[in-house]
Amino acid sequence: MYQDTLLYIDGSWRGGSAGEMIAVINPATEEVIGTVAKASEVDLGEAVSAAQRGFSVWRKVPALDRAQIMRRASAILREREDRIARLISIEQGKPLYEALNEVRATAETNNWFAEEATRSYGRVIPARGEGIHQFTVREPVGPVAAFTPWNFPILQIVCKVSAALAAGCSVIVKAPEETPASPAELVSAFAEAGVPRGVVNLVFGEPSEISEYLISHPVIRKVSFTGSTAVGKQLASLAGLHMKRATMELGGHAPAIVFSDADLDAAVTGLSTQKFKNAGQVCISPTRFLIQESIFETFVERFVEKAASIEVGDGLAAGTRMGPLANKRRLEAIDAYVSDAVKTGGEIRTGGKRIGNQGYFYEPTVIANASIDALAMNEEPFGPIALVRPFRTFDDAVAEANRLPYGLAAYAYTQSGKIAAALGAALESGMVSINHLGLSLPETPFGGVKDSGVGSEGGTEGIDAYLSTKFISQV
Ligand code: NAD
Repeated sequence: MYQDTLLYIDGSWRGGSAGEMIAVINPATEEVIGTVAKASEVDLGEAVSAAQRGFSVWRKVPALDRAQIMRRASAILREREDRIARLISIEQGKPLYEALNEVRATAETNNWFAEEATRSYGRVIPARGEGIHQFTVREPVGPVAAFTPWNFPILQIVCKVSAALAAGCSVIVKAPEETPASPAELVSAFAEAGVPRGVVNLVFGEPSEISEYLISHPVIRKVSFTGSTAVGKQLASLAGLHMKRATMELGGHAPAIVFSDADLDAAVTGLSTQKFKNAGQVCISPTRFLIQESIFETFVERFVEKAASIEVGDGLAAGTRMGPLANKRRLEAIDAYVSDAVKTGGEIRTGGKRIGNQGYFYEPTVIANASIDALAMNEEPFGPIALVRPFRTFDDAVAEANRLPYGLAAYAYTQSGKIAAALGAALESGMVSINHLGLSLPETPFGGVKDSGVGSEGGTEGIDAYLSTKFISQV
């Protein structure tokens, strides 16, 4: 049932002009399941011309009509949710129920932006003299280059494409080569819903070649990237060199602080669910578990019980709660982080090993008393590892939470309103979720501070990134 994936340029599906293809691997079996076409510079040039023409058409389509087309795309996605979820699971590894949630969240996010299309208001500014009319209008910024990762193969795309479409921009998406078939389904839904040719284009290939070509191309006016901090810094520099607007959604290293007065059931259940979702390959995954001394051992014991009971297997198999890691790089990285954490004094309380020798499966892993110098306490592990450390005071916990250059998500559990309010103010983080898992909704901003990025996706901030403000003064 898995299909080969082509490029989508100027309203047509086609192979790369050089005839090159990249293999796609099922991470649960390590089998090659298909191919994806590789774009050459000729193809990219055609995509840019198409996006330029597409922009001139789409920007003139009234917002109400843009919204209607977008809502139709969501309806198509919902009709096909089972098929698309299976593709996501096969190419990315996540369990089918998570994949289905992703398709539904994708449709919902697209609908949210469809509504936002009709609300991109300007404002009237009181003038200093009679007969002067001063006002602002919001205009689409122009053709966009969007780069998205493999952990949420289609949700990451709508966060960019739907915001761009709502604003009246055209887009070239460089989607992940590891998970190409589900993005192709998403783009098909937009095309079938009536998005005109050239407005959404989909390319795959050598990531650095594509980003260098597109970001430096004068037609492209805006860059949006989700991925690692290291790559984000390179792309942001290139965008700066060419004076392009840029949104950067980068890595995180979320602290999860549990105070002794917390509802322990809620903390253990919430944080274990959030930790092992998508095998920990989520930028807002909790990583540094900071537990107040008096409840440290109880928390670890209960968290380990949850982690050890997670059924790991092929995402398509009934009962699977955690799939394989998405690729071999992750498996090797996680193995290295765990060995290093043990070498530097951490104690494995559960997990710590690859499962079997076929498929990139890894045990849900809990490491207690990890050294602050362990690599995984400093670099984003992006995998199923929880590092747990005790803390004594509020100030100690906040100091550790803010120690790293990352600042994406932070979690905390306490029944004290005073502590909760103080945490909200003290944590250097783009998003803070206290006593529940409240992040990543279409209507709320999603973004980081410090090395975790620049700008927000989601919420009204999400569409702002694709609009520029023009001031008009008229007598
Ligand atoms: P990576 O940095 O090589 O790639 C991450 C993504 O960026 C991929 O989709 C890749 O195709 C793309 N990419 C890489 N180099 C690029 C370039 N020069 N131009 C344009 N796109 C480029 O890392 P990886 O091994 O695929 O993933 C592991 C790391 O990536 C993780 O440790 C994590 O920090 C980060 N990541 C973050 C997110 C997120 O949601 N923020 C998602 C996936 C990966």
